[in-house]
Amino acid sequence: MARKKQTKRKVSCARLPMQRLLPFAHEGRYFDLRAVFDRLNTKYFANALKRYTIVWGRKRKLPPREYFVFGTIQEHDRMIRIHPLLDQRFVPVWFLEYVIYHEMCHAVVRDKYDPSGRRIVHHEKFWEREQRFPHFRKAKRWEDENLARFLR
Ligand SMILES: [Zn+2]
Repeated sequence: MARKKQTKRKVSCARLPMQRLLPFAHEGRYFDLRAVFDRLNTKYFANALKRYTIVWGRKRKLPPREYFVFGTIQEHDRMIRIHPLLDQRFVPVWFLEYVIYHEMCHAVVRDKYDPSGRRIVHHEKFWEREQRFPHFRKAKRWEDENLARFLR
């Protein structure tokens, strides 16, 4: 059947990974980080976070083996990076929101320093703020139950 052949040829076409085709670094295949960030900023931070950039991090050849960094925030250039493996169908939007919310909390909760001058970013005040996210418990549970899917 001609149709079958055509289908076959189509499948054998080399395709760039989806991410390369997307024009903006905040757009993923399943989630647009910018949209999520703006929604959270309005809803939970009274739009206090100004001029932040949020992007999907670079894809690595292999997923990490031991632990997984879902997101990072850099204050000097106001850059939030989210791990590209979170851009998958099985990831619930409220989990992605939780990851972004966590990074956003760093922007509004001050870091502390221990007596030796070491910076502490996850301290009591921080946890308190983080737990205000309505899906916090659900997200933590989901993280525990699904972490292995992100590791090698
Ligand atoms: Zn953190």
